[in-house]
Amino acid sequence: MPTMSSTTPDLVPDYEALVEHFDEFAAAEVAPRVQRMESCPHDVEPDLALLMAEQGWFGATISREYGGMHAGHLIKTLMIQSMARVSGAAGAILQASQLPVSVLVHFGSNEQKALVLPRVASGQTLLSIAVTEEEAGSHVLGMETTARRDGSDWVIDGRKVHIGNSHLAHVHCVIARTASADTAGSRALTAFLVEDDRKGLTVEPHKPALGLHGFSFGRLSFDGVRVPEANVIGEVGDGKDIAYSSSILYGRPNLAALSLGIHEAIMECTTRFLERRRRYSGTLADLPVLRDRVGGMKARLMACRELAHRAALLLDQGQGCDDVLINSKYLNHKWAVESAQDAMELHGAHALRTDYPLQRLWRDIQHTYAPAGTGEVQRQRLAETELGAPPIQWSERLADKTSLFRPTT
Ligand SMILES: Cc1cc2nc3c(=O)[nH]c(=O)nc-3n(C[C@H](O)[C@H](O)[C@H](O)COP(=O)(O)OP(=O)(O)OC[C@H]3O[C@@H](n4cnc5c(N)ncnc54)[C@H](O)[C@@H]3O)c2cc1C
Repeated sequence: MPTMSSTTPDLVPDYEALVEHFDEFAAAEVAPRVQRMESCPHDVEPDLALLMAEQGWFGATISREYGGMHAGHLIKTLMIQSMARVSGAAGAILQASQLPVSVLVHFGSNEQKALVLPRVASGQTLLSIAVTEEEAGSHVLGMETTARRDGSDWVIDGRKVHIGNSHLAHVHCVIARTASADTAGSRALTAFLVEDDRKGLTVEPHKPALGLHGFSFGRLSFDGVRVPEANVIGEVGDGKDIAYSSSILYGRPNLAALSLGIHEAIMECTTRFLERRRRYSGTLADLPVLRDRVGGMKARLMACRELAHRAALLLDQGQGCDDVLINSKYLNHKWAVESAQDAMELHGAHALRTDYPLQRLWRDIQHTYAPAGTGEVQRQRLAETELGAPPIQWSERLADKTSLFRPTT
């Protein structure tokens, strides 16, 4: 069977050896766990997170000054893509651990960076980012979790849902309301570091979802959780900017990479099936009508790969690329879902068997729609830049912090 390159030749010419390393790790450490993770949807898989942490991968975008890899967004994308090709849950665990790094890299004080980033880079500390709430959903400014000053502390009350790595994270980056909703300039939200052993913080029991078995995106409850002023990230009122910039600059490329890895697995699974299933004097792969559908799948996959890699490269280069990041996340999910549906049909009844990997991939890909902006959110953002009144371009505003060529020691 011809093997497809997972890189985009003109964009990532020197990274073949790295991708090989990621793929070897995935084959040795992730693949043997897939079956068990699938059959135990009530369990969270901490071992995989620890193994990836030991590789230093959670520090992919952390500078060397803080012990990180300083590897950038393109290598981060290739990492997530490699893991997701073998297990969507492994890709999800990796991306969810890397996403909150943005909060500290972009807005953390020197003290916070010095305290937290070396521990993330060495794999001792896992982070989460907690924004979403049951009622407000993607309407971030509608959140109801509050933080109020009490002496020199802040006291947080509220609930967060769907928080990636909720059950694994040692420190949560929590966005809470610190002023009324009508506060001018959307300065009503603030971000806080909340350590997992703070009194009043409860991680609710893990409940299995449709797919991504082994990955937790659960609920956090805050009942009078007290944190010191030193745990405020950025300025009071920066919470919306922190949530939005993290979602654009890390969430979009990470989710695109996750979709891409699952999409590649869908393609591999389908070609293998068609080439092995006998029909007439040959196999299903010989039938022109089925080859035509595989051609359509490949066209989507190639475009998705190009989009994901180019968006990450532009980020590494410090170029303005918000629309590219948004489009990449949007189309990587959308086209992977289309390929997943093609694949289901091409597999006939085999698609429905729970001992066959395709139904896992089909379930897993449903999970990349909602995080880091739903399809509606992406299209609204793209329309805004096309029709005037473009929103803040985070890749331009934070270029000195996202670029791979930023000064490091
Ligand atoms: C796998 C996974 C991991 C996640 N990880 C995290 C995490 O780490 N941290 C975190 O904070 N959250 C996380 N989330 C939550 C995610 O960010 C939310 O699901 C997302 O913001 C959408 O919110 P919602 O699901 O409540 O949908 P809703 O906001 O209720 O939207 C429902 C539907 O209505 C549409 N809609 C909503 N508002 C509008 C509008 N104004 N105009 C047009 N259409 C609209 C949406 O596009 C969607 O189709 C995760 C979710 C998943 C599935």
